[in-house]
Amino acid sequence: MSKEKQRPYAAGNARGAKKTCDTGAVISLWKVYAFSGTVFQGGNRSGSLGTLTLKRPDKRVKRMRSHSAYMKIALQEAWKAYESGEIPVGALIVSDDGLMLARAHNESIGRNDPTAHAEVIALRQAAETVGNYRLTHTSMYVTVEPCIMCAGALIHARVKEVIFGAFDPKWGALQSLYHLGHDERLNHRLHVISGVLEADCIDLMKRFFRERRKGEEKQGILDSE
Ligand SMILES: [Zn+2]
Repeated sequence: MSKEKQRPYAAGNARGAKKTCDTGAVISLWKVYAFSGTVFQGGNRSGSLGTLTLKRPDKRVKRMRSHSAYMKIALQEAWKAYESGEIPVGALIVSDDGLMLARAHNESIGRNDPTAHAEVIALRQAAETVGNYRLTHTSMYVTVEPCIMCAGALIHARVKEVIFGAFDPKWGALQSLYHLGHDERLNHRLHVISGVLEADCIDLMKRFFRERRKGEEKQGILDSE
């Protein structure tokens, strides 16, 4: 077997591919390179990177630079949730090879589904994409610290690393309220990085709840008239 095939989710197999999930969602697999804070999305059906002839950067440099680049994409997802009136949380899953396997945002209200948090939807998409319920060689980027349910799902999926933006003092299960990622009674550990683009992630949450409060106050005035 070639070296390329031995690697999980080898870029050569998945680049530019599209896959339809059970949910009907069509997922594209992107190769994301981050240089000087800019995100390039490459990959096409022929499997080439088109005009993007960028060399794969040194792994250490790539990791250092790409956290905020990937978080920006998670923030784009969070904005989609915001625009739909959902709590603005966005998540994406990236393989060790830098392939984006899934991207999702909160859809609990729209789907009438209390489990439809961005992280759970992304885990389902990624597992469907790779054809495996274990996501061992992956990292999740999520704009807000995962809740108890999502932290549990991340452990079940054996995700390697979780990078989040804003802390959640009310629900956060990785650092704020609990440290489920490092609980020795469980059989899997999550490597956790917090505070990536934290200000942007907090701003969006604050904006959402401020506007929701305003709407509720307005509603209260109308009701009392
Ligand atoms: Zn959650």
